[in-house]
Amino acid sequence: MTSIPACPRCGRAPLTALRVAYTRNRWGGGGPRPRPEQWWECPACGWVGYRDTETAPLTTMRRPEGGEADCFFCGEEDGNVVSEPWRQEDGELRDWIVCLHCGTSNQRRVRPPAGG
Ligand SMILES: [Zn+2]
Ligand SMILES: [Zn+2]
Repeated sequence: MTSIPACPRCGRAPLTALRVAYTRNRWGGGGPRPRPEQWWECPACGWVGYRDTETAPLTTMRRPEGGEADCFFCGEEDGNVVSEPWRQEDGELRDWIVCLHCGTSNQRRVRPPAGG
């Protein structure tokens, strides 16, 4: 039995489960494989995020604006969500972009703001 978490942002609604699966690179002709994370969306406020297991905390993702929102791989408009950036041990800033349409994820180097 899967427990449905409440929205961490507005708390008003139980989240809606999203089916996110790898639909590209289907080696061997198999069907789409679900991604390892559980993905959720809030029908009330639009919050989107995931958790690694049923007992793990929810991680918030954001929906990027502009060209960043469109998947580079499958071309789906507004398919992408992006994590908060984190700093690696070598000081490099990275974030994680995931297309909820085709399941493709990619770590990116984040450029520091110009002029700093
Ligand atoms: Zn909400
Ligand atoms: Zn895609």
